[in-house]
Amino acid sequence: MRIVIALGGNALGNTLTEQMTAVKHTASAIVDLIEQGHEVIVSHGNGPQVGMIHHAVNELTHVVEQDFPVIPLSVCVAMSQSYIGYDLQNAIREELLNRSIVKPCATVITQVIVDPNDPAFQNPSKPIGRFMSEQEAKKLAKEKGYQVMEDAGRGWRRVVASPKPLDIVEIDTVRSLFQAGQVVIAGGGGGIPVISQGNHLKGTSAVIDKDFCSCLMAELVNADLLIILTAVEKCAINFGKPNQKWLDNITVNQAKEYCKQGHFATGSMLPKVQAAIKFAESKKDRKSLITLLEKAKDGIDGKTGTIIYNS
Ligand code: ADP
Ligand code: MG
Repeated sequence: MRIVIALGGNALGNTLTEQMTAVKHTASAIVDLIEQGHEVIVSHGNGPQVGMIHHAVNELTHVVEQDFPVIPLSVCVAMSQSYIGYDLQNAIREELLNRSIVKPCATVITQVIVDPNDPAFQNPSKPIGRFMSEQEAKKLAKEKGYQVMEDAGRGWRRVVASPKPLDIVEIDTVRSLFQAGQVVIAGGGGGIPVISQGNHLKGTSAVIDKDFCSCLMAELVNADLLIILTAVEKCAINFGKPNQKWLDNITVNQAKEYCKQGHFATGSMLPKVQAAIKFAESKKDRKSLITLLEKAKDGIDGKTGTIIYNS
């Protein structure tokens, strides 16, 4: 099978040191699938990493004497793709060599086209970066023109737009690499959001949802399976309630019904289920799997995870 694997936060950890350990387990799970003969394209999230980079470059603007230019968010996403890609491709390479599998692995810095008229730009909803006091947040908002918001009782944060991905600029490069038998890491952090202006691509201040970008990539490379690896083995209805029920195999229509009933939390499980539905209904015989990193192999064998398929 041709598989797009979307790695969640727990596959990468929250800090540089956590990431170096986490990628070893992640690489092992990925190489298990390669060893079974699957073609694998890897994508990943970047929540904590882009937050850290954004924080670091912001601090820079405070500490240096002269007016240090603001580093755009699109550049922060690019930085996160490269350093996560560095750790991942290194770990995958090592795991392949340990198993005597000869296969190059590389990261493609990936730009993703978004629509400048996407309503998400009018309604920034994705919190990024560090937590601040209300006063500090409002000061920053005034100085830099940022939008800020209170984030779930934890403090104030900058919020950015999360527009829908329309196209992947480097998709032909991704195709060439996997067609040559190489392992590709692409679409990291949802991709670098860009707006098309004639021949020029202009970075935009947004963060694309990695689950939606992975879905688009799976469609564009004509994958058979989209695997979304996260912190739970299965999706549930009535999640966290006494009548919670884990979901095994569900049809696209069932999944849509559960979305409508509000079973999946916005910003965490909902985008995954929506991405899983979109991919499963995009073409005959495509399906999606949501499960834990360590259960990817069992999930493909139908032993666990939530599978969403088009009946
Ligand atoms: P990732 O970093 O993999 O994108 P998220 O934290 O964004 O992870 O989303 C996964 C989380 O969604 C799970 O750890 C779980 O706590 C939460 N979640 C919300 N609703 C559900 C649900 N209905 N079923 C399972 N998990 C859910
Ligand atoms: Mg998430």
